[in-house]
Amino acid sequence: MPTPTDRSARIHEAAAELLRADGYRYTVARRTIVAALGDAGAPLTIPQLLAADSRLVQSSTYRNLVILEEAGVASRVVTSDDHARFELDERVTDHHHHHLICLDCGDVRDFELPAGIERSLQAEFGRASRAAMFRMERHRIDLLGTCAGCS
Ligand SMILES: [Zn+2]
Ligand SMILES: [Zn+2]
Repeated sequence: MPTPTDRSARIHEAAAELLRADGYRYTVARRTIVAALGDAGAPLTIPQLLAADSRLVQSSTYRNLVILEEAGVASRVVTSDDHARFELDERVTDHHHHHLICLDCGDVRDFELPAGIERSLQAEFGRASRAAMFRMERHRIDLLGTCAGCS
């Protein structure tokens, strides 16, 4: 089993590489954001991210998130409320998952599908893509509904 330290080292290495490929440096502030997103069990809003590490400054965190998103290090989870939520991209974590999104409070939880289901989905998505002459890279599936706290 990989230890948490291995996992975090791999994440930072992948993040640095993606940023470098886009001409960006892996600054201390960007590293701090990546670490906070990596430690969180679910996607974070910007207020939650700022609360997670007191060294993070609001203005530069906004700018850095734009850069991290552009480089493919972080990705935005679209919810029904006004708060954008961010998580580390699968290209960095190597952890494919889906989301349960609460339409009332905006809460987001991760969940995984069995590997066999993922393979069947990929096969179907491949067929649909080929029929449309579309080159699929990966998929996103989020479930929308009401969380336990809201229902
Ligand atoms: Zn809710
Ligand atoms: Zn999937």
